[in-house]
Amino acid sequence: MKKLVDKLERERTLSRREFKDLIDGRQEEGLAPYLFQRACVVRQQLYGREVYMRGLIEFTNYCRNDCLYCGIRNSNRQADRYRLSKEQILDCCRQGHELGFRTFVLQGGEDPYFTDERLAEIVREIHGRHPDCAITLSVGERSRESYRLLFEAGAERYLLRHETANQEHYDLLHPASMSLRERLQCLYELKEIGYQVGCGFMVGSPGQTTDCLVDDLLFIKELTPQMVGIGPFIPHKDTPLAGEPAGTLEATLFLLGMLRLLDPALLLPATTALGTIHPQGRELGVQAGANVVMPNLSPVGVREKYLLYDNKICTGDEAAECRHCMQNRMRGIGYDVVVSRGDCAGFIQNTLTGREQANPEEQEESYV
Ligand code: SAM
Repeated sequence: MKKLVDKLERERTLSRREFKDLIDGRQEEGLAPYLFQRACVVRQQLYGREVYMRGLIEFTNYCRNDCLYCGIRNSNRQADRYRLSKEQILDCCRQGHELGFRTFVLQGGEDPYFTDERLAEIVREIHGRHPDCAITLSVGERSRESYRLLFEAGAERYLLRHETANQEHYDLLHPASMSLRERLQCLYELKEIGYQVGCGFMVGSPGQTTDCLVDDLLFIKELTPQMVGIGPFIPHKDTPLAGEPAGTLEATLFLLGMLRLLDPALLLPATTALGTIHPQGRELGVQAGANVVMPNLSPVGVREKYLLYDNKICTGDEAAECRHCMQNRMRGIGYDVVVSRGDCAGFIQNTLTGREQANPEEQEESYV
């Protein structure tokens, strides 16, 4: 099995059969530590000991969709709905900026209140007030025109987990009104418009087989996103999948390690879900190959309402606490937290090709 890890590191891909064998054989003695060691070496060559910090603002939990796994799905009548006003969102950014954040991730359900005009206005305002910051959106499926407007307003990055690249599995996790084809189409459109894109999937979601995971890896290889967000599936008590088991720490870490070797330049978050299933989940995620953390900047009053799954961590902490907690956690395992925009594109391309920096100012990093 270690030979497959070596081959993945060398060739950045494997055949379908080999991917499957590696995932299925992951509990072989010593294999996971070996994978993590290789993943860390590969990451270190590009990113050193740096972990990028993004400020997450969960600005609405209204959602028109009904994904079977999600706590903010439309038919969950128990969900206490909220949406932040433009002023509240701007206030989160101001606070985040004071705390040193230079990337804001605006995430929410697919809330029809946030029309193109409203959302573009918010993005424009953040961009105007904080021109030194990168704005990432994670607001689901929208039209190409909408994505273009938001890009022109100043959003440069977009996170849209594909959730699963396997058709049958997708249909099992989503209502008939949602389609894998459309979701993937959105990702390609975002890329064409010029966004840095992030896709991703849950590990251990109900019905997920090794073949599904192989489909995910092959899809990621084809899409070549800048980011991949993965985390364990965690059941939510008021969803149809309430009684299903959660994904495991072990499988999630293994896949993080594989993703690092698949594409060394990837921005790979150690997610809140990982921190929820294990007290040191995010530290272990970084030690397996992740290089991004996303402390929460949402107002404490709404944190408990953005409950995608049960027992979500950090719902009672102020932004400053989250930021310092994360910094201490990363320092504790020997990593430097960096709050710069953390553009992978220019920096990594140049590292790989040995070219000069395109824009040296953008490479400036502030250590905190
Ligand atoms: N509406 C946007 C979208 O669809 O991309 C962003 C919000 S959505 C709630 C963010 C991510 O949460 C989803 O892509 C999904 O992978 C994750 N998620 C939802 N329910 C989850 C659960 N029960 N366990 C783990 N992750 C979950």
